[in-house]
Amino acid sequence: MSPQNKIDRAGWFEGSGADCTPDAGSAGRSWRLVLLGAPGVGKGTQAECLNKRLGACHLSTGDLFRDAEHRDAGHQSPAMAQAMESMHHGALVSDTTVWELVRERGDCLRCSAGFLLDGFPRTLAQAEQLKAYLEGEKVPLTAVLDYEMPVDEIVKRLSGRRICEKCHSVFHVTWRPPKVAGVCDVCGGRLQQREDDQPSSISIRLEAYRHSTAPLIQYYKDLNLLVSIDANGPPEDVCARTLAALESRVK
Ligand code: AMP
Repeated sequence: MSPQNKIDRAGWFEGSGADCTPDAGSAGRSWRLVLLGAPGVGKGTQAECLNKRLGACHLSTGDLFRDAEHRDAGHQSPAMAQAMESMHHGALVSDTTVWELVRERGDCLRCSAGFLLDGFPRTLAQAEQLKAYLEGEKVPLTAVLDYEMPVDEIVKRLSGRRICEKCHSVFHVTWRPPKVAGVCDVCGGRLQQREDDQPSSISIRLEAYRHSTAPLIQYYKDLNLLVSIDANGPPEDVCARTLAALESRVK
């Protein structure tokens, strides 16, 4: 499963055509995956690993909102300003705003390199919108990976998480510390704690997950797309588990 292609997330952040030069994708296959799981379960870290191994692009709606916040500071549309407000408190952004952003990045969903959707869909309405769109474009999902972990472990993970403000790489003060404290190993950017990783926001986010996102597990089970993955343990082990589960699914 080694990547054959060169991909670039610029198209996802800029909302224009993806600036990729994908060949056929890994071993001739386009991996179109949704990563499900509660906040803090490690979807971003797994997406980085899967990106290296499968060649598909890591498309995170959370990264999109955080990037838009820095990029458009002072020039935000009312919808985007409302989205930022929701994000800071740990609440979900409206389905309309989220779908508008994803829809205008349709090139990334149609890209022959495939995609790893991280943080989207997060509600049944979003899942229906995605399904209708992908059916219309004739680019079916390969699988939906559901990362499972007990809640107390999730809280520990969220509170120790640090993110690079430049390249969005994910670290953890205990389990994945950077070589130099506060500095990203990948690009040298500054590591920050996300505002919504503060304790008051964590409980709101977990409740939003329970209420709005957890029902997607049954939704994708019914569509025979769900692959459950134990998210406990070192990220490399979880990634190896994921790759093994995908191999056996597509055999
Ligand atoms: P994440 O990085 O995926 O945890 O997302 C950070 C925040 O962005 C969430 O807590 C929401 O406020 C917002 N967000 C990201 N993706 C979505 C989505 N698909 N639906 C609604 N809100 C979202």
